[in-house]
Amino acid sequence: MSTLWPRIEPLLARVEKPARYVGSERGSLRPVHRPGQVSWLLVYPDTYEVGLPNQGLQILYEILNERDDAVAERSYAPWVDLTAELRSAGVPLFSVDTHRDAGGFDVLAFNLSAELVFTNVLECLDLAGVPVRSEHRRPEDPLVVAGGHCAFNPEPMADFVDAFVIGEGEEVVGEVAEVVGAWKRAGRPGREALLRELATIRGVYVPALYDVEYDGARLVGVHPRHPDVPERVERRTVSDLADWPYPKRQLVPLIEVVHDRLNVEIFRGCTRGCRFCQAGMITRPVRERPEEQVRTMVRDGLARTGYEEVALTSLSSADFSGIDGVVAHLVNEQEGCGNVSVSLPSLRVDAFSVGVASEIQKIRRTGLTFAPEGGPGGSARSSTSASPKRTSTPRWTPPTRRGGGG
Ligand code: SF4
Repeated sequence: MSTLWPRIEPLLARVEKPARYVGSERGSLRPVHRPGQVSWLLVYPDTYEVGLPNQGLQILYEILNERDDAVAERSYAPWVDLTAELRSAGVPLFSVDTHRDAGGFDVLAFNLSAELVFTNVLECLDLAGVPVRSEHRRPEDPLVVAGGHCAFNPEPMADFVDAFVIGEGEEVVGEVAEVVGAWKRAGRPGREALLRELATIRGVYVPALYDVEYDGARLVGVHPRHPDVPERVERRTVSDLADWPYPKRQLVPLIEVVHDRLNVEIFRGCTRGCRFCQAGMITRPVRERPEEQVRTMVRDGLARTGYEEVALTSLSSADFSGIDGVVAHLVNEQEGCGNVSVSLPSLRVDAFSVGVASEIQKIRRTGLTFAPEGGPGGSARSSTSASPKRTSTPRWTPPTRRGGGG
């Protein structure tokens, strides 16, 4: 699989933002593909500006590239101008790291962050030259995997995705890589064999192995077709965030993107359990990152990226038990962190303390986002910022891993 760059480069002169497609960001990799490895293309099915800051994709990118048996690259949904150029020139969807043909990867992994990206997934598959419907794929076609918050309701995409990962992805991507690697070494003995093996991984739902029963438009039952296929797919959750201090090399974009700052996840889950909140339900239980690790990630991340703003992210950052200490440390430590601005992008009003407020007002720019209706995962938020340019918005967390996102 060689680079498509000589065919892509001439097209970029005719599109609005060529920098979306060139890669080479600080923190990015130019992975070498070695025989025997499982190659992953992690696709964020939205524009570069939305997809690049996604922490879930960046976490899995690092974890997979740290493995000897896997290699991972990134791709984002091309904007309509490049899509037209690609179709006109007969050039397929490509990775931004080494500009390889998406259809040549072993695994295409999509992050389903919102239902609105579903059609972009289909567009990406079509651009990649991969059959859009799972049933039409051949053994040589990539395995199409999806994770993220919308994977918790997989049926709308069940005809197009070979396997969904339900829950957090840090551990399960390695298990999927091992299964795909073994299947490749066995000579790719049919997709059914691969799907049956994938279905044995905890947290993996393979829709082709289930009969789904509807009563009109209402789903009333999901029944496994084989005795070795689990009746109930159990959500994957990493038990200790301290084991996963990712991303270690946060990507620094080439152009302005959303959430253009250092992001450090301080905990997953939410203590509140509001009944209307998907994120609060599916990211349980609450798991905090050790305070010292938060400080280290902030210090190292700022030094490596050059950012002057750090966001302490979670579903409800003021509920972090060490928030006072971490904020005070950030505000008062002069070496490396003392002159940065701090964003707390997801705050319950009733959890925001006077101590945090008095510390945070000392620094030059600060972004706070409150959720006055009682929870940061809800619909009505109000933002305030000491800097008119720096307002914070809620974030969605990792695809598969992922934690927060309210
Ligand atoms: S709405 Fe906010 S406070 Fe309530 S469960 Fe969701 S994230 Fe937590």
